[in-house]
Amino acid sequence: VPPPGPPAALLDELRAVVGPNHVLTDPDQTAGFSVDWTGRFRGAAAAVVRPGSTEEVAAIVRACGASRVALVPQGGNTGLVGGGVPLAGELVLSLTRLDALSAVDVAAAQVTAGAGVTLARLQEHVDRRGLAFGVDLAPRDSCTIGGMTATNAGGINVVRYGTMRTQVMGIEAVLGDGSVVSHLTGLPKDNTGYDLAALLVGSEGTLGVITAARLRLVPRLDHRVTAGLGFDDIAGAVAAVTHLRAALPSLHAVELVLAEGVALVAADLGVELPPALRAPAALIVEAAATTDPLEELAAAVADLDLVAEPVVAGTPEQRRRLWQLREGFADAINRLGPPVKLDVSVPIGRTAEFVDSLPRVLPGGLDVIVFGHLGDGNLHVNVTGVPADEPARAQAVEEAVHRAVVERGGSISAEHGIGTAKVRYLHLCRSPAEIVAFRAIKRALDPAAILNPGVLVPAD
Ligand SMILES: Cc1cc2nc3c(=O)[nH]c(=O)nc-3n(C[C@H](O)[C@H](O)[C@H](O)COP(=O)(O)OP(=O)(O)OC[C@H]3O[C@@H](n4cnc5c(N)ncnc54)[C@H](O)[C@@H]3O)c2cc1C
Repeated sequence: VPPPGPPAALLDELRAVVGPNHVLTDPDQTAGFSVDWTGRFRGAAAAVVRPGSTEEVAAIVRACGASRVALVPQGGNTGLVGGGVPLAGELVLSLTRLDALSAVDVAAAQVTAGAGVTLARLQEHVDRRGLAFGVDLAPRDSCTIGGMTATNAGGINVVRYGTMRTQVMGIEAVLGDGSVVSHLTGLPKDNTGYDLAALLVGSEGTLGVITAARLRLVPRLDHRVTAGLGFDDIAGAVAAVTHLRAALPSLHAVELVLAEGVALVAADLGVELPPALRAPAALIVEAAATTDPLEELAAAVADLDLVAEPVVAGTPEQRRRLWQLREGFADAINRLGPPVKLDVSVPIGRTAEFVDSLPRVLPGGLDVIVFGHLGDGNLHVNVTGVPADEPARAQAVEEAVHRAVVERGGSISAEHGIGTAKVRYLHLCRSPAEIVAFRAIKRALDPAAILNPGVLVPAD
């Protein structure tokens, strides 16, 4: 039975809060907010509400709480675990209008960003003051600071700077009861009780609606060299990561691509692969520093057991061409049809053995494409050939891969979160006592259970 839509009186109340133009109910207008980036998660928003301030968010949350109407916070809608789309006909709370950016505090190397600021806008803003942001992801033009904080996003520079959790110095949020918690001072030393920011980072919209974040910035590193290195196998690439971590202080990113996957990307982009990237396993390595890191990179690479001449990209255009072979994976795979996307981590020393096990554990007739942030032991496992309308087959794939991950002491979600996609598997990585604690925290901060029900926290 489809859930009843929101009461007309509630919609009128919301129109009074945000203005009639910011409550969308026409299915043509709400359609884009109702389906995720992959097309695998599809719902139907009862309405989309677009607040323009923290006070408006609080008023919306209070009104929805009083009517017991559920809300799904949404930023750029690039999340990959079905956590930001209204699968049960909820209201979508779109935060993209919260797009204020403070002046950069150069002395503290910090900035305050509204939840709806896109990563690309943040990067441009701080770049002008000689600083940079420590997290970078391919969908930078769409993904938002609110969504990245809510998912504790990782990306390509975790090896150097850590995930969003390391960058977030303070948070402003509206909790499930409509109260506003705001602690945006960003003091590096501030032991004044519970760290609500740390709790909200990675909470996937289940505890509060993030409206702003105080963010740590890092020095802008203008000198960069990117290299493509080919290896005989994954074990060779893993050994190289260990070596580069020790021998290359300017190591900024180290990404794994495998021959079949990168060939698919090259075909999709219509470009020729350099020999190093035709190797069975290859790394795309970036070094970044305040002075040219080429010599340091060359010296570190000289000790590696490579199977082909490395490709070295020094100019911005050469680097862009090399990086597109890594960043093009998601689009190239999506063009084969909605994939079953799994984002896992395993202890880095077990990467080769895990990847080798996949053809054995997966149901027959399916293709698997693996790539990822090898420096963090984070692999993206994409299984194609499962039609979107066959959820039981998708589930069999998920179970097989997750079992292989857990048997090796890994995590079923490295950076994308749990969302709705993985909630049934949470118990594989979290103990019963931990899940009880999750539920207690959820009840305390979202007493009416209106924020992202069905996401992250398994039903009692
Ligand atoms: C091509 C591609 C590449 C990607 N690469 C990476 C990668 O390298 N690393 C990585 O970590 N992720 C990656 N992602 C996943 C995605 O970009 C991240 O999860 C990102 O952080 C989501 O941001 P968003 O603004 O799009 O959030 P959304 O998709 O809108 O929402 C994601 C989750 O956060 C919640 N949420 C959103 N905004 C708020 C808010 N203001 N307050 C509370 N909850 C909120 C939503 O309810 C949902 O549960 C990739 C996605 C794509 C499509």
